[in-house]
Amino acid sequence: MTEKTAIPLNERLYRTEAIVLSRLDYGEADRIVTVYTPRRGKFRIIVKGARKPLSRLGPHLDFFCRSTLLLAKGRELDVVSDAATIAPHERLRTDLDALGHASHMAEMLNRLTDDRQENEAIFDLLAQSLRLLEDGVDPWLVTRHYEWALLALLGYRPELYQCISCGAELHGVPNAWSSRLGGAICPLCRSADAGSRMVSLDAQKILRLFDRQGIAAVARVKIASALRGEIEGVLGDYLRHLTERELGSMKVLRAIQQS
Ligand SMILES: [Zn+2]
Repeated sequence: MTEKTAIPLNERLYRTEAIVLSRLDYGEADRIVTVYTPRRGKFRIIVKGARKPLSRLGPHLDFFCRSTLLLAKGRELDVVSDAATIAPHERLRTDLDALGHASHMAEMLNRLTDDRQENEAIFDLLAQSLRLLEDGVDPWLVTRHYEWALLALLGYRPELYQCISCGAELHGVPNAWSSRLGGAICPLCRSADAGSRMVSLDAQKILRLFDRQGIAAVARVKIASALRGEIEGVLGDYLRHLTERELGSMKVLRAIQQS
C-alpha cells in the first residue's frame, strides 16, 4: 500500500482496558461480550472465533477477566483485534461462592448503567472489588461495600443522616427505610411510605461506616449473620426498586421511539 491509500491506524483502532461483565455465543464460533472500560463505560464488542478450541483471543475475554484490548471500530459492534490479560481472576470462575457474588456485581452494573457513559471511578470500584474477591476477602463484605459505593457513584446514595421525608436529623433509634423515597425516615414520618420497613440501629451504624469510612472500617467489625441479613435486605430492596424503575423508564423510551 502506498502512503496515500493507507488508512492511519489510529482512525480505526483504539486500545482500552476492559473488564468482562457478560458474554453471549454468536454465530458459528464468535462471542458478543459486554465489557466495562475506564473511559467509555459499558459497551458490547465482538470476539471472532472466541469459541474455537485454540482461540488466541477467547481466554483474555472470559467472565470477569481484566484485559487490555485493541479494538477496531465496526459498523455496529467494535471488533477485538488483539488482547492481553492483566488479571485473569481465575477464582471468580471456579469458586462457586465468589462466582455468585461477582455475577451479582456485574449484573447490577449492567442494569444500572447506560452504554458508553464514562465513569472511571466505577471502573476502579469494579476492578478493586473483583480483586478483593479473587484474594479471598469475605464476599459478603466486598459485595455490600460495592453496592453502597456503586449507588453513591451513580447518584443514588441513600440518605442516612436526615429524615428523607421531613428533613429532621435522625437519632440513634430504629428508623424506617423507604426504598421509594431513597433512605431512612424518622418514626413520625413512617406513614409517608406504606412500603417502608424498620431498620435497626446496628444496621444503620454499619451503613454509616460504609458511607464515611469504607470497606476497611467495616472489615474490623464482627457482624452477626442476622445483622448481615438485615443489611443485605435493605440494600437489595433499594437496588431492586432502582432497577425496576430503570427498566420501567426504558420501556417508556422504547414505546416513544416506536410510536
Ligand atoms: Zn421525618
